[in-house]
Amino acid sequence: MADGQLGTVRCRIEQFVGPSSGLCVRRQRLRFVRSSSLAKRRESLLVDRYIGLDLGGTNIDYTVIEVDPGETRPTVVATDKVRTRAHQGPERVRDRLIEVGKKLTAEYGSVVGVGVGVPGLFDAQTGAIEFLPNLPGPWEGFSLGDPVSEGIEAPATLINDARAFTLAEGTIGAGADAKVMLGVTLGTGIGGGIMIDGSLHLGAFGTAGEFGHQTVDPNGPVCGCGNHGCLEAVAKGSEIAKAAGVENAVAAYTAAAEKDPRALDAIAHASYFMAIGIANVVTVFGVDTVVLGGGIMSAGDLVLNPLVSALHARLTLVPASRVTIVKAALGVKAGAVGAALAARSQESDSAKQLPVIGRSIGEE
Ligand SMILES: [Zn+2]
Repeated sequence: MADGQLGTVRCRIEQFVGPSSGLCVRRQRLRFVRSSSLAKRRESLLVDRYIGLDLGGTNIDYTVIEVDPGETRPTVVATDKVRTRAHQGPERVRDRLIEVGKKLTAEYGSVVGVGVGVPGLFDAQTGAIEFLPNLPGPWEGFSLGDPVSEGIEAPATLINDARAFTLAEGTIGAGADAKVMLGVTLGTGIGGGIMIDGSLHLGAFGTAGEFGHQTVDPNGPVCGCGNHGCLEAVAKGSEIAKAAGVENAVAAYTAAAEKDPRALDAIAHASYFMAIGIANVVTVFGVDTVVLGGGIMSAGDLVLNPLVSALHARLTLVPASRVTIVKAALGVKAGAVGAALAARSQESDSAKQLPVIGRSIGEE
């Protein structure tokens, strides 16, 4: 997704009260990846288990991932979705997130953490929502992190959905072998994220990776963020569709493939600016892999081909032949998997701090 935010924020419950008893649990529709090995892992107390919840305007996609002792790559144990029912408002949506989490812990056992992918802006200190453009209702200032943590009885981590996409694709998806990866989501808006040496790069303010909000046309149209000529303002799906005179961006790419002159112009225009945006990031960060996802990528090569040509024309200092541009591999589950991975990386960051505390105590 597009607008906003901001790294991750972790919300801890004050007291860990343990699993609820007497909870009525109905079995969910869940797809088991490897049911026999899952059964073995569930017997082990050493498996670290995380829940990922990807909050979207239509669906809440969810996942359970597990990491075996000594392993770094997680196993996706289950993925599925429920309707968000966003029209029912923030309280009900928050309750549904908690409901899904509680059912998953009842089904799979307790979890080390839960990650929530958020399609917008949130306060990295408090876990309160600042801006959710695609969900109706009074979300501004609505507390999400702490109530979810308390409801599911596990530490909760919020992450922007485009950063969650990037983290998932860069860990077990199309960018898993990358040294430096740029993740881009092309949908209602243009989102992004950067992975360096296997870690999500969030920068000093927790906001790094806002690929769609770099200026590519100084005198361009005003963006939703207030800046002029952001990449998102000139190349988002609705702009492509408007310029091509069709219903949506995928239709524009299809029409361009049939040599429709207006659609060809619209695609060339969007690809020109997208290539500027990608080339900027590749040149500054030394990106070796660009992973493109989001709804528009259902047009596949129709999006990739003109973009690759435009990009090769613009890259000079970095050999274009060594920059791989690929379609995302994980599909719609990337957001939920990335949210679970965000919870896991918060947990390992906390663990890393423990020796520092121990050492300072020992020095006294
Ligand atoms: Zn902007």
